[in-house]
Amino acid sequence: MSKEVTVARLPECDLCNYGKANGVQDVVRTATVDGRMRTGSWANMCDPHWRDYGVGRLGTGYGQRLRLSTERLTHTVREANHHSIQHGPA
Ligand SMILES: [Zn+2]
Repeated sequence: MSKEVTVARLPECDLCNYGKANGVQDVVRTATVDGRMRTGSWANMCDPHWRDYGVGRLGTGYGQRLRLSTERLTHTVREANHHSIQHGPA
């Protein structure tokens, strides 16, 4: 298990979703870490939640930082450009 994992799409933060469901917060941030919380359970966490609830280190048994695949990002941008060229300005 490496300290990083590349994903095509960043998941939502589980703790933000939990907070929103319970009326604690309004925003649901993008998760940047798939890691272990101090409680022992695992979650996708945004930076602030990882800092507050995470075990504070990455690696086997602790967690992985989520990296958005740049390959896919480039592809998406190219598609968007192609789309606007094809149809022209509105
Ligand atoms: Zn969060």
